[in-house]
Amino acid sequence: MTHQKVAKSSKTEELIQLNETYGAHNYHPLPVVLSKGEGVYLYDVDGKKYFDFLSAYSAVNQGHGHPKILKAMIDQAKTLTLTSRAFYNDKLGSFLKKLCEYTGFDMALPMNTGAEAVETALKMSRRWGHMKKGIPDGDQEIIACQENFHGRTSTIISFSTDQDARKGYGPFATGFKIIPFNDPAALKAAITKNTVAFLFEPIQGEAGVNVPSDGYLKAVRKICSDANILMIADEVQTGFCRCGAKFACDLEGVKPDAMCLGKALGGGMMPVSAVVARKDVMSVFTPGSHGSTFGGNPLACVVAIAALEVLDEENLAAKSLELGDYFRKKLSEVKCPKLVKIRGKGLLTGAVFEKGFEAWDTCVELKEHGLLAKQTHGNIIRFAPPLVISKKEIDEALAVIKTVFEKIK
Ligand SMILES: *Cc1c(COP(=O)(O)O)cnc(C)c1O
Repeated sequence: MTHQKVAKSSKTEELIQLNETYGAHNYHPLPVVLSKGEGVYLYDVDGKKYFDFLSAYSAVNQGHGHPKILKAMIDQAKTLTLTSRAFYNDKLGSFLKKLCEYTGFDMALPMNTGAEAVETALKMSRRWGHMKKGIPDGDQEIIACQENFHGRTSTIISFSTDQDARKGYGPFATGFKIIPFNDPAALKAAITKNTVAFLFEPIQGEAGVNVPSDGYLKAVRKICSDANILMIADEVQTGFCRCGAKFACDLEGVKPDAMCLGKALGGGMMPVSAVVARKDVMSVFTPGSHGSTFGGNPLACVVAIAALEVLDEENLAAKSLELGDYFRKKLSEVKCPKLVKIRGKGLLTGAVFEKGFEAWDTCVELKEHGLLAKQTHGNIIRFAPPLVISKKEIDEALAVIKTVFEKIK
């Protein structure tokens, strides 16, 4: 990775040094230190304003400090924050009902992080295969895709194909089969009598906004139904209106058997995740078989309820669809020979540069011009602003991107 020398304030330098000295180096951030957020904007410690075009990987779909979510959070923080699941709390039921209504599923199981939602789905599928299909416990197989991103636990990285995420972390969990993404025939061929589920992202976000061919989701649905295996969509990043519909699976009118949810479910304020599923699938969980101390805490519940309400009240699915198409159309008019492809759905866009191009310097340059975005896989920049962005702000951001991209040699 190349590092362009950029003048930083002494304050910025000092704060970065604190991180570097006392923190594990498991991230490589852009050299900017943020201290405030409001709507689609972030501010650094020197008061410089930026467009947030990452939205914490889609965790901030509702924008920074959304007043409604903030109020819900503050009111609840003063009332009751955590009881554990040893007792009922008065907010969990309404949250579960709201989430089931929003997603169209029968039941939900609340956790905190996306990785925990995925772990929950893995356990659920294996149990379902054992209890409902009679597969001997220990023989269950789950199919996943190349270039997947489902989180960072040791089980999840066991079926990652990203060597950076795996190296040195063995031994790995077994029972996973990897197939190419966007390949229904490979899915069909990989299914055995022991297969319990196909876990996949309807659009691969971390892989660089890999959008599958039209009809892929429908084909997956049919193959899973025919083989009686669970179709599990990881919508942690693509869900909650990011891709121009409530969920990316809605783009093809497809309903999976379960979804993993997280990120924007917490309204950009706290980690809230969940698995939603059909009743006959979720019913495999019994007392003591799974849980989380913080999962379903009343503070998380009220924040998530407000986060879901904002998505509906502000028509963010329709907005994401319309502004996303507009953004990609305008972006495709930018003159930059090294930019080879623009892809995405809704307000999730990948700008793909030619192979070998290091987009780090471009992201630093975008930052200098007041827009924060991050490269993935070296040559792809993901653009994912908060969905509350206005058309005028999109135009302003496009002007910044145009300035920077047209300077690329
Ligand atoms: C971010 C992400 C996760 C993991 O979520 P964490 O909250 O970081 O654990 C899982 N799946 C997908 C598709 C994601 O984008």
